[in-house]
Amino acid sequence: MKGEEVQANWKGLSEEIMQGIAEWREQHPKATFREIEAEIDKRLSELRAKMITDTAMASVQAGWKTSSSDVVCPKCGEKLEKKGKKKRKLATQGGREVELIREYGVCPKCRQGIFPPG
Ligand SMILES: [Zn+2]
Repeated sequence: MKGEEVQANWKGLSEEIMQGIAEWREQHPKATFREIEAEIDKRLSELRAKMITDTAMASVQAGWKTSSSDVVCPKCGEKLEKKGKKKRKLATQGGREVELIREYGVCPKCRQGIFPPG
């Protein structure tokens, strides 16, 4: 995905979220400050998780391809054998799980599987 497409997605999602919060407020006119805070956090964490995923994916796609020959094992410095792409699950601070598709390599010496940093 290109940068503009990603931004258009974020914009669409944030508009949906803002709309949703406004509707929720109409349906919950007596909500307390805490309830409002919790509701907004919950809804924004969705946008947050999406932004983290998209941003991380974009940097991986840019990073690994151009420097694939220099990806080495952090322990022994051996060149990693590429094993293709794998899903990696990460938890965000908002308690959401994001799934990244990342290139995965295995060190031929230590036999350790590594997701290169990025
Ligand atoms: Zn190694």
